[in-house]
Amino acid sequence: MQHIHCQTRTDLLVRKTSYRPPPRTREVLINGQTVKLKYCFTCKIFRPPRASHCSLCDNCVERFDHHCPWVGNCVGRRNYRFFYLFILSLSFLTIFIFAFVITHVILSKSISIFLDGCTVLEVVVCFFSVWSIVGLSGFHTYLISSNQTTNEDVSTSHSLLMLYLNIH
Ligand SMILES: [Zn+2]
Ligand SMILES: [Zn+2]
Repeated sequence: MQHIHCQTRTDLLVRKTSYRPPPRTREVLINGQTVKLKYCFTCKIFRPPRASHCSLCDNCVERFDHHCPWVGNCVGRRNYRFFYLFILSLSFLTIFIFAFVITHVILSKSISIFLDGCTVLEVVVCFFSVWSIVGLSGFHTYLISSNQTTNEDVSTSHSLLMLYLNIH
């Protein structure tokens, strides 16, 4: 019994000393170009190109765009097209509602009908949602046309800003 106990202890010691932490980067050849892959210690994988680790979802996301707090999920390779179609259809909906609420206000004024509080509230809510949602759709249309993700666009802008601040 003691012998077995001693052996397991020695085994553990040997395993402890022979343990080597995995390298942090690995270089792979993709389409004739050398790409450096970073190691994710949480997921225990070498992250594929354009992937990023989301601290909220606690996993690596392929073609990571951003973590959407409204949807409560990450937007990446698997669901980006659905996310884009969702905000695009939402833009059309907000434009549609805004156009009809404005028409309603104009028609009410022309026949001198007093506007109620709900209509005023609708105008205010629609005005702000039109700008934010249409703006967001426009931004994602620009990202798709330039084959970028929000994460890459923000990183590029940040590094450009850093470069500008270093120069000036
Ligand atoms: Zn990860
Ligand atoms: Zn996430």
